[in-house]
Amino acid sequence: MKVPKNKKTFCPKCKAQTAHTVAVAKKRERGTLKKGSMARLTKRGSAKAGFGNHGKFSRKAISGWKRIGAKTSKKTDFRLTCTVCKKTQVKSSGTRAKKLTIEDKT
Ligand SMILES: [Zn+2]
Repeated sequence: MKVPKNKKTFCPKCKAQTAHTVAVAKKRERGTLKKGSMARLTKRGSAKAGFGNHGKFSRKAISGWKRIGAKTSKKTDFRLTCTVCKKTQVKSSGTRAKKLTIEDKT
């Protein structure tokens, strides 16, 4: 997929349509000590009682029963930087592409 380097879109700080530069946001690994994973560990871990139903935590890993990893393309997030106020916003648009190139618009 070809994406133009410059794009005119809404800036929440300027509250107007301004020119933005487009870059690809880096994917970051999820931290292990976040609130959600700690809550999951306490529900799942040996600290809890070893009997009874723990709801969704009683299930196998999601790759065992759902078609996780079936798709061959990745979704990409874009970082849009406003050229007026230099504020950056991340657009997590849901377009899939195998190959992505950011190019100058002629
Ligand atoms: Zn702006």
